[in-house]
Amino acid sequence: MARYTGPKCKLCRREGEKLFLKGDRCFTDKCAFERRRYPPGMHGPTRRRQKLSIYGLQLREKQKVKRIYGVLETQFRRYFEMARTMGGNTGENLLSILERRLDNVVYQLGFAQSRAQARQFVSHGHVLVNGRKVDIPSFLVKVGDVISLKEKIRNNPAVQAALASKDPNQVPAWLSLNKEKYEGKVLRLPVREDITHPIKERLIVELYSK
Ligand code: SF4
Repeated sequence: MARYTGPKCKLCRREGEKLFLKGDRCFTDKCAFERRRYPPGMHGPTRRRQKLSIYGLQLREKQKVKRIYGVLETQFRRYFEMARTMGGNTGENLLSILERRLDNVVYQLGFAQSRAQARQFVSHGHVLVNGRKVDIPSFLVKVGDVISLKEKIRNNPAVQAALASKDPNQVPAWLSLNKEKYEGKVLRLPVREDITHPIKERLIVELYSK
């Protein structure tokens, strides 16, 4: 498999906020944002950040979440409509839907080093749900689903590196991982407390409710 480079760290530096696009690397001192907290480019270190309007803040929060989960506008909007009609807290529903995406689940189980890499594994047909190939990264898992990797990909260095750094205790509480079997299970649907990224979903709801 060709080496996967994935999204660029400069997106975080441009946004002035960590977007967690590189998996575990984002939590280490190798994080580019931690090392250089100014925008990329020649004038980066001296450039002042613009003070954003409320609309700007809302827009930025939406862009951030879209980038974290690797979702385009049309699909994001569709998720928002789903979340709105589910009842309860729309923002929390939205995050729950995003977490249930198959590419995110593959990442959270530790089969891939980032969501972007997980997405690639799914779309290349390396992921099974309940024993059947599912190559749609946006597939939403449900309670009881068993997610596993095909035999062929299990010894891939990227998978091995991802799993080696994954402590099963770090897997979100709504999932369980069996490292030896390259298999994970959905124990329940994710709730707000399961999502550790600093996301202000209220801003997104306000933006779309205009
Ligand atoms: Fe952003 Fe992660 Fe890169 Fe840090 S390592 S700059 S959080 S993508």
